[in-house]
Amino acid sequence: MFFVLFRGYCMNNFPDWLDPVPYMAQVEQAQRRDVLAALATTQPTIAEFATLLSPAATDELEALAQRAKQLTRGHFGNTIQLYAPLYLSNYCTGGCSYCGFSSDRKQPRHKLTEAQLQTEMSALRQMHIEEILLLTGERTPQANFDFLHSSVKAAAAHFPKVTVEAFGMTEDEYRVLNDAGCTGITLYQETYDPVLYEECHRWGEKRDFAYRIAAPDRAFRAGLRTVGIGALLGLGNPIAESISLYQHAIHLMKTHWQGGISLSFPRLRPESGGFTSPHPADEKRLAQIIFAFRICFPNVPLVLSTREAAAFRDGMAGIGINKMSVASRTTVGGYENGRAEDEGQFEIDDGRDVETFCSMLRQQHLEPVFKNWDAVFR
Ligand code: SF4
Repeated sequence: MFFVLFRGYCMNNFPDWLDPVPYMAQVEQAQRRDVLAALATTQPTIAEFATLLSPAATDELEALAQRAKQLTRGHFGNTIQLYAPLYLSNYCTGGCSYCGFSSDRKQPRHKLTEAQLQTEMSALRQMHIEEILLLTGERTPQANFDFLHSSVKAAAAHFPKVTVEAFGMTEDEYRVLNDAGCTGITLYQETYDPVLYEECHRWGEKRDFAYRIAAPDRAFRAGLRTVGIGALLGLGNPIAESISLYQHAIHLMKTHWQGGISLSFPRLRPESGGFTSPHPADEKRLAQIIFAFRICFPNVPLVLSTREAAAFRDGMAGIGINKMSVASRTTVGGYENGRAEDEGQFEIDDGRDVETFCSMLRQQHLEPVFKNWDAVFR
């Protein structure tokens, strides 16, 4: 269904680099010998990436894991970079059907005051966090660009690395954030299927597929150093979404070679509205997707958040994944006042504190890295 709709979709400004359809046959038809050939090559193509996502590759998961581990350790050493999210506001005008902050969800809305932001940041500093990701929903009168801008300025005074996950912005707005000390953005397309995108994004600015998919290009043109992209696994066909994400990554790497991308693998989690996943991706499928990305993008940071269970995160650390969030709260004011998780954007699964998580990493002979960048480099 996805593919028929995808082919038939007509949109102005639809990116010419996005078309997973030709590679789906590769996924269906790949044999064991194709998987072994893809594992042996040093520069896999998109066709080989598709092969690594195939059912034949599912049967070779251990071999994929070994190759992914070898490449991860070769490029990142025995390190795991850590960061924490900080929710600035849960006001939102968006109508994303899968999100607990959607404007039709009946839940208390909050935004941090300047004093509360300082308190949250101080709680994170006490946890030794050096990189924070500031989050807010779509633009609202309560939490607009000016609010985000002043929050970035405040955060940049305390943290060497401040990134933002918020609404898609103009190039000028990204430039202003860059000047305020923002080092990068995270912006998931959620689904690369334009028809499904329209169904899930029922109202709000985010409904504009073309504007959102071009946001990483605008961010790089504005001078931001890093852009994190991803698809929300569970919304669309995870194979087609992965191939589309591959194409997006290649487009950004070729067009903005001075910048750095990272890839994330968020899976749909339970949220207060009770949305259920149309295409659930289980842990085995998720692991295969991560291994395939690592094998094809050996030096790109791959990120796994606390959405995932502790045992799965422990298993993926250093085997594909080299960057992880830790001790996350998805509520506004969650670090200081422990506001209820049922007010969060989604439920988290790995609730360990920083100390416990780092001790798990060290037991696996992995070194937690809190800081790998300083603002003086800007
Ligand atoms: S995903 Fe973002 S834009 Fe959509 S409802 Fe949630 S907070 Fe709002």
